[in-house]
Amino acid sequence: MSRQFGLPDTGGTCTRACRGDYLADALLAGLARESSRRAYVYDGGVPLPERQLIARIRKMGGRKSLIGDDCAVLDPPRGHELLVTTDLCLEGVHFRRDWHPAQSVGHRCLARGLSDIAAMAGGPLACFLSLGLTAEIPQDWVDGFLAGFLGLAKKFRIPLAGGDTGESPHGVIADVMVVGSAPRGKAVRRSGAKPGDLIYVTGALGGSAATLGRLRARQARFSKSDPHFYPEPRIAIARKLRGVASSMIDLSDGLSTDLAHICEESGVGAEVEIATVPVAAGAMLEQALHGGEDYELLFTASEKKKLRAKMAGVSVRKIGRVTRDPRQMMWLRTPDGQRVPMPSGGWEHFGK
Ligand SMILES: [Mg+2]
Repeated sequence: MSRQFGLPDTGGTCTRACRGDYLADALLAGLARESSRRAYVYDGGVPLPERQLIARIRKMGGRKSLIGDDCAVLDPPRGHELLVTTDLCLEGVHFRRDWHPAQSVGHRCLARGLSDIAAMAGGPLACFLSLGLTAEIPQDWVDGFLAGFLGLAKKFRIPLAGGDTGESPHGVIADVMVVGSAPRGKAVRRSGAKPGDLIYVTGALGGSAATLGRLRARQARFSKSDPHFYPEPRIAIARKLRGVASSMIDLSDGLSTDLAHICEESGVGAEVEIATVPVAAGAMLEQALHGGEDYELLFTASEKKKLRAKMAGVSVRKIGRVTRDPRQMMWLRTPDGQRVPMPSGGWEHFGK
């Protein structure tokens, strides 16, 4: 079977034959093999020079004969449209090496892109990784990052189909691209919410912000089961929402900010019932309303659509209603029936 993989340039190659035949698997197996042999671990601890780093990734892939091309060649399923998303992960902004283990950073970087594909009710096809590393970063950290990144890619059965590497003068930079697809015309956009539609969220909110608060206070302990460290992109439930959701977005910046995006794009207002917002264990309401990085889905659906309380193993909660409002105001309905404006208080780069 012909398979190709290339990192040296901006592209990589995933030939038609490589779809369904997942490189991440081989990379992970290779990583485990190599770390047991320790043959490639630099004694100086700093990252390998670029060519050796690329060779290492190839070697970890267990496919010495693979040759790179300038671009990846992808073969989307028949009748599908392509979805493309790109995310920048910056050390000190999106993660801290003293807070987040390397595997968690790798996982989180890819989870953001996969969550965007889920937000469109799509399925992922391939991912790309461009990595800027500082000269002093230990190779063990890079290995951990790759294990986290490729572990998630393996879970969603997508190949790492290309990327680039370079030296960063300040901090680690990971530029991640995910390509996905959805049947033609079935991708769910932010702009489809109609007055009278109901507003739903998956899972529980505020957990990631709560962990972040504890990290800041030096009270958090790393836990593999904490979604802040290992968020779960909602790909499976998103597929089930094709033809059901009228609009959708993933909760990366916080409920209040992401709901504002739906209101803006759809030209509607919204009313959220505070008592129905699912607050994650250990989190406060404020964090559920305005905290980011939960990577749950926020969507609207016509009242006529009957939704189950659990879909694809994930809870679905009705939290409010879309209103007709040219000013696109968002309101909170308090348990005693009062209506107060809901400020858009989530994360915004360059905002503060
Ligand atoms: Mg998004």
